[in-house]
Amino acid sequence: MKQWDWHNINILWILLFTSVSLGIWAYGKTSFAFFWYTPWLYLAQAAGIVAITNMSLTFVYTTRFKILGKFFGELQHVYRIHKLNSIIGTVFIVLHVSFFMIHSISYPTLFRYYLLPGSYWALDYGRISFLLFILLTGLSFSNRIPYHIWKMTHKFMGLAMLFAMLHVVTVTSDVKYNMLLRYWLIGLMSIGGLSCIYTLFLYRFWGPKKKYVVSKVQALNSDVTEIDMMPIGKPLKYDPAQFIFLSFLSSIVGKEVHPFSITTIEEDQKLQISFKVLGDYTKKLRHLEVGTEVDIWGPYGTFSEKYLLDNRDQVWIAGGIGVTPFLSILKHQNSHQLTSNKWFLYCTRSMEDAPYHQYLEKETENHDISYHHHQSNDQGFITIDYIRSQVPDFQNKVYMLSGPTLMMKLLQKDLHRSGVTFHHVIHEDFSLR
Ligand SMILES: Cc1cc2nc3c(=O)[nH]c(=O)nc-3n(C[C@H](O)[C@H](O)[C@H](O)COP(=O)(O)OP(=O)(O)OC[C@H]3O[C@@H](n4cnc5c(N)ncnc54)[C@H](O)[C@@H]3O)c2cc1C
Repeated sequence: MKQWDWHNINILWILLFTSVSLGIWAYGKTSFAFFWYTPWLYLAQAAGIVAITNMSLTFVYTTRFKILGKFFGELQHVYRIHKLNSIIGTVFIVLHVSFFMIHSISYPTLFRYYLLPGSYWALDYGRISFLLFILLTGLSFSNRIPYHIWKMTHKFMGLAMLFAMLHVVTVTSDVKYNMLLRYWLIGLMSIGGLSCIYTLFLYRFWGPKKKYVVSKVQALNSDVTEIDMMPIGKPLKYDPAQFIFLSFLSSIVGKEVHPFSITTIEEDQKLQISFKVLGDYTKKLRHLEVGTEVDIWGPYGTFSEKYLLDNRDQVWIAGGIGVTPFLSILKHQNSHQLTSNKWFLYCTRSMEDAPYHQYLEKETENHDISYHHHQSNDQGFITIDYIRSQVPDFQNKVYMLSGPTLMMKLLQKDLHRSGVTFHHVIHEDFSLR
């Protein structure tokens, strides 16, 4: 699927659901003659309907159902769609409340009625939901709070949704009298609510889960550590470079669930991840004990699709720990010689930060892949000129990027500017936020 497709499909998806909701609402109005007398009231109702439609849909994207990947591609894209839907939902919740306030300005009794809590239960549900959505969305966009706190606060979105549902179902409005609208919105909210329950409480048990046990923990340098795991029962089936969510059943690490790329291939019996210390969790993970059981959910991701399906020559660019998906892809080359030419640019700060340099040098030589180690401490950040100097006819290649977000963003921009087609540049994103 081309890179821009998921975005376009999502816009169509949002427009479709929003139009159906608004269409049913407008169809149920006997007349719009009063629109000119109370325009803000009409706008407030319409904004509320757009808000609840989008907020309901946003929970569906958190379920990690494989079917979502068929429509939108990478799980990271699905999370971005989730984010876009939440933004639209929150903006329209604010508009819904603002339009009602504007409408009631010239009627002091009505204004007090809308503003003050305790006057009417249905409005109180709405007030609680409004405050929760605003607070939680504000927190969601703060990059300052640590990830685990961010994730914990994010779970309360379900509560905000519950109050929104109570508000919609109990308030005296078109939703009460227009039965088609009522059932349509209750249907959407139920799907959203059930998705939320699945994500928060049931995914742990019903998600695509396998059990493994840690067989080896090996530090490669002061930052990077590899963990090998063996299956208990049926092993995981996966493509090269896919990623998994892991929860180690360990008192040292805790049961937090974190995503990591797989560095082995399905034919290996063991499953391996390689991680760099970043925060509290990865610091503790270095002290994991052999014999620890681990729950694994997945696999997810389509990063290797181009590698597997596209015969064009490829350039692989890895920055730091972003090398992990390529370790799996390289191992895949051993058993499945694919015909296209390949270039591998491994970018690290220095030789000390490059635990895979020697391994890659040897492996790429075995597979006739042109390998270059780029050290930013000596050579500065990797640039389009550097790529041009190493890769002949560089515009007509497929680019696979995995590394720090900023590095990938800049490279993507420069490659597009230099004439590389948009869908010939794909990247693996290590962020789901
Ligand atoms: C698809 C994918 C593949 C990844 N593959 C690798 C890999 O092969 N090797 C590697 O070293 N790192 C990988 N990561 C990143 C890894 O998940 C984070 O480095 C790790 O979770 C950091 O946790 P922390 O508590 O130590 O750091 P923190 O300082 O708490 O987190 C740093 C950042 O990591 C991300 N993160 C933290 N916890 C989670 C979580 N539970 N779920 C999702 N994202 C989280 C957030 O963006 C956060 O801002 C991958 C991430 C993703 C999304």
